[in-house]
Amino acid sequence: MSIPLSDPGRTGPLGHLEIHLDRVRWNYLSLQKKLAKGADCAAVVKADAYGIGAAEVAVELYKANCRHFYAAHAGEGVAVRQALNGREAQVYVLHGPFGMKAEEFVRSNLIPVLNSWGDIEYWSGFARKTGQRLPAVIQIDTGMNRLGVTAEEVARLTADPEILKPLDVRYLLSHLACADEPAHPKNKEQLEAFRRLTAQLGLPSRLSFANSAGIFLGTDYHFDQVRPGAALYGINPSSVAPNLMQGIVTFKVRILQIKDVDRGETVGYGASYQVSTPAKLAILSVGYADGYMRSITGDGMVHVRGHACPVVGRISMDLIAADVTKVAPAPQAGEWAEIIGDHQTVDDVAAATKLIGYEILTNLGRRYKRIYSGQG
Ligand SMILES: *Cc1c(COP(=O)(O)O)cnc(C)c1O
Repeated sequence: MSIPLSDPGRTGPLGHLEIHLDRVRWNYLSLQKKLAKGADCAAVVKADAYGIGAAEVAVELYKANCRHFYAAHAGEGVAVRQALNGREAQVYVLHGPFGMKAEEFVRSNLIPVLNSWGDIEYWSGFARKTGQRLPAVIQIDTGMNRLGVTAEEVARLTADPEILKPLDVRYLLSHLACADEPAHPKNKEQLEAFRRLTAQLGLPSRLSFANSAGIFLGTDYHFDQVRPGAALYGINPSSVAPNLMQGIVTFKVRILQIKDVDRGETVGYGASYQVSTPAKLAILSVGYADGYMRSITGDGMVHVRGHACPVVGRISMDLIAADVTKVAPAPQAGEWAEIIGDHQTVDDVAAATKLIGYEILTNLGRRYKRIYSGQG
């Protein structure tokens, strides 16, 4: 048998990582439909839009009328601004005024989220120095105990409003700790704290509270702006309900080799998996360096021509082995195996391990070229 030298299974790319931008827009619009009247849907595009590509996502969501974008780092905010290329939109920086000179921050047209008394003093001092009233967002910590001003600092701001004078506080923001568990009492506690502390401040600022999961807690949680990230990228915003979002990633990799192994043989590092009956293995071009985490060992599944095939043996850096014994006719080298796509979501890959979909997505396939489809 002779294989043509131009066989795409051999000469084509080793992986196919496709981002369906039409589905990102669909997810955005479907979230927006759920919102309380008057609430805006922002988009969280931190960490390169959860690994998807912040520039591409921002441009697509702008087409769906999204006008508010959240980055985590100032540098990410600059990249989003560049991608939006002069389009009218607000870009907020969740980590606040860090990692960049204040002048550059303002010149880059970024709005910092001020997360502490120190942040407020710093930004207010800078605004006073420039003589401009600078836009800002203030995050209030309502129980997450991560970033945000505390209840005591809110009281201090109320008693001493002078410090806020040089600032145009566009939003007061807070973040939910347990929104993916709708019955968790912490949700209502944080909601009440947010209402109380924002009322206490008495600013004309708009209010932003819910992340993806928070949107599904109901319209009480929507206020003036919601901030989904995960749901836009197809991750299930609920830990209890079926996923209403569309998966946006197709990730397929090549079968490099088919290997027949006898009963008693072992597979991979540590010889941790032993074959109990003669088996046919497909060796695939994916591993933990591609975000197929080593902790998936023992729980992985891939699909070859639609058949579910268990991943056997330890996950290596660049390779995994899948048991394709049951696929008939037998798969060949050069064929595709689906890692994420129609048969298996990002959440499925994460399930049964200690991983979450967010981790799979943010680590996915840096060495595979992203192919963007479905531009509006
Ligand atoms: C990451 C983040 C979000 C988005 O959360 P998802 O669960 O991905 O929707 C919203 N707000 C803040 C402050 C965040 O850090």
